[in-house]
Amino acid sequence: MISIEEALQQLLAQVQVLPEEKKHPLQALGQVLAEDVAAGFDIPPLDNTSMDGYALRAEDTAGASEASPRELRVIGEVAAGYIFAGDVEPGTAVRIMTGAPIPEGADAVVPFEETDEPFTRPPEGAGSLSGSVHVLKEAATGANIRRAGEDVRTGDGVLGRGTVLRPQEIGVIASLGRDEVRVIRRPVVAVLSTGDELLEPGQPRKGSRIYDANAYGIAAQVRRFGGEPRLLGIAADTVEALTAKIQDGLAADMLITSAGVSKGDYDIVKDVLAKEGKVAFWTVAMKPGKPLAFGTFERDGRRIPHIGLPGNPVSSMVAFELFGRPAIMKMMGKREWLRPVVRAIATDRITNVDDPRVFLARCAVTRRDGRYYASLTGSQGSGILTSMAKANGLTLIPAEVDAVEEGEEVDVLMLDWSLGDEWGSWSDEGAGDTPLPGTTVIAPADRSF
Ligand code: AMP
Ligand code: MG
Repeated sequence: MISIEEALQQLLAQVQVLPEEKKHPLQALGQVLAEDVAAGFDIPPLDNTSMDGYALRAEDTAGASEASPRELRVIGEVAAGYIFAGDVEPGTAVRIMTGAPIPEGADAVVPFEETDEPFTRPPEGAGSLSGSVHVLKEAATGANIRRAGEDVRTGDGVLGRGTVLRPQEIGVIASLGRDEVRVIRRPVVAVLSTGDELLEPGQPRKGSRIYDANAYGIAAQVRRFGGEPRLLGIAADTVEALTAKIQDGLAADMLITSAGVSKGDYDIVKDVLAKEGKVAFWTVAMKPGKPLAFGTFERDGRRIPHIGLPGNPVSSMVAFELFGRPAIMKMMGKREWLRPVVRAIATDRITNVDDPRVFLARCAVTRRDGRYYASLTGSQGSGILTSMAKANGLTLIPAEVDAVEEGEEVDVLMLDWSLGDEWGSWSDEGAGDTPLPGTTVIAPADRSF
């Protein structure tokens, strides 16, 4: 039996970062930047106003107040995207809209709220603006002016190679005028279910046959962590069927199979895998998910990693979480892939009396009064997928610990931060200390795994 850490280390040693590709930034959400992105121009390009109001010379407002307003002649207006053709001479002002460049001669903007806003737009085609405005407050030089280059300066390195593209990075890339960006490619992950007992969802039910849950759960995990799943369907338990499906799967960047890797069954998966590639069969010191196959196949000069997950649906999901997820993230060029782990108070007694294995019990973590509580979500049998559906975390009960008593602390690997948002309901707990309605305050994770 090998430890989770050892298995992961061996597995990741065989997984390579994929080549780069060019993509539209919006298609690259969650991908890793494969280039340094620099600015070819200033953002904003020109000094501009952060408020709607009047651009003027600050000295013209000296001593202005409600009781003693300063009257300025309005010589025109300018909106965002245009440039005012003229100078703001002493005693004049230009009506200006947020984002519009500051006209020559002006050195401050006074918002409408600090004027008597007497001005009404002349009817269409009525010629240039005319009239006057009374300023009710003194303006400091530079007031409400955003300087050219205050966000980004020409030549600045803005985003570095290796950055994971979140919505904010995608916005930054767009602000630089880029409609293409170089990123590490997403892995195509072939997903294969094995077993004569399996039916595709949608097929009519038959006797002792069961529906293929694994392919769908695993494909969804692949997608969630940034890969592109390719479902190969179900391979019957025959050498021919299995060999053909595996060959088909080797066009992908990684192959994930489920079932047929446990000891003492009649499956021929093990034989076929061993014949087609280099495969190690491990028993990993974890519960659920003990039997795991890992190997590599050679095809057209490429080396394709293969993860053989256990058949039981919870085992396959948990094993994917611990091994498939990091593999995908490494292929995508991600350097940080650890999950947050929080220390929570067990609300149940949790026993771990089998052979020494880390117990990843499915639990629901909630937060009350600044503390986390972990409650088991039901039966922990490795075929009970519904208790996985109720969970947002997995306990990390060390192999040598036989039991965690109710009220004791336990480390929990967080799969999701919130049950509420996924279930479409909000808990009122801790609502008093939330900064925004509809948000939950989450303390930083204690560690990661
Ligand atoms: P095996 O490793 O093939 O012995 O499978 C272990 C258990 O997992 C058996 O009860 C299988 O029926 C079940 N199983 C295998 N593959 C799937 C699947 N794709 N969906 C749901 N259950 C499965
Ligand atoms: Mg089987």
